[in-house]
Amino acid sequence: GRLAGLSTLVTGGGSGLGRAIADRFVAEGATVTVLERSAAKIESLVSAHGDRVRGVRGDVTSAADNAEAVSTAVSAFGGLDTFVGNAGLWDFGRELRAMSPQELERGFDELFGVNVKGYVLGARAAAEAVAERRGSMIFTLSNAAFHPRGGGVLYTASKHAAAGLISQLAYELAPHVRVNGVAPGGMATDLRGPGSMALDGTAITDVLPDADSLGRYSALDFSPRAEDYVDSYVLLAARGESRTVTGAVFDISSVGTPRRPDLPV
Ligand code: NAD
Repeated sequence: GRLAGLSTLVTGGGSGLGRAIADRFVAEGATVTVLERSAAKIESLVSAHGDRVRGVRGDVTSAADNAEAVSTAVSAFGGLDTFVGNAGLWDFGRELRAMSPQELERGFDELFGVNVKGYVLGARAAAEAVAERRGSMIFTLSNAAFHPRGGGVLYTASKHAAAGLISQLAYELAPHVRVNGVAPGGMATDLRGPGSMALDGTAITDVLPDADSLGRYSALDFSPRAEDYVDSYVLLAARGESRTVTGAVFDISSVGTPRRPDLPV
């Protein structure tokens, strides 16, 4: 496999895109440690992959939980080559004026806590181990890191913040660690929102008319599944396949290019 012998850590690796990354990384020969808050999702991952994976139940907003995930990867698999920051929350496109000031106060802290602080704390916990292996970090962004209407104000701002984090970390951690981002577009997953906005009981799949409906945002007239986005993660994690790439974001969302007007809606 293209990732043979690599030890990797994926946050939010229990479902959706993170799970697709974990499955593909194992198939490519890597070992995968997952930091995930859902015990049931960890159980499912471990029953699929056995001793190729480790699950750490914890919260990405906690420095201690991030440190535990890194030390689990290092002790189980001898080091850490790749850190994938991926766990995230969505705001379901909630517009500024649709939220009370109090809801904004709490929602901001919760959503930025996961999408931005979670990435910063993960990078902090992983930096030394990844540098030792001359490895790399990959962060999940979104079409919302570039364009409006991939979310509301909180989500869009959080993904722009994460893009800035990638740029700064690529500078600070050079020359030993490459730091890049991948920006997927919509997909039907278990992606949820902040509890403080009463959005923790709803998943993005609940608000999509059907899994094919995402195709209408894409220039390619195609409704991707999580698995369709993982090739870029393999490319960025593989030894020698992206040696010149740092501080880059692969926009693989296909929503920035306008749709041809003659395509069906
Ligand atoms: P998902 O909910 O299926 O997967 C995210 C995982 O992270 C879940 O298993 C969840 O339990 C876990 N998680 C959430 N908060 C956590 C926390 N505080 N600590 C530990 N684990 C936590 O959703 P997904 O769609 O696969 O999301 C993955 C990434 O993809 C996110 O960064 C999201 O912003 C991004 N993204 C998603 C879409 C989409 O349409 N689904 C589009 C663009 C980008």
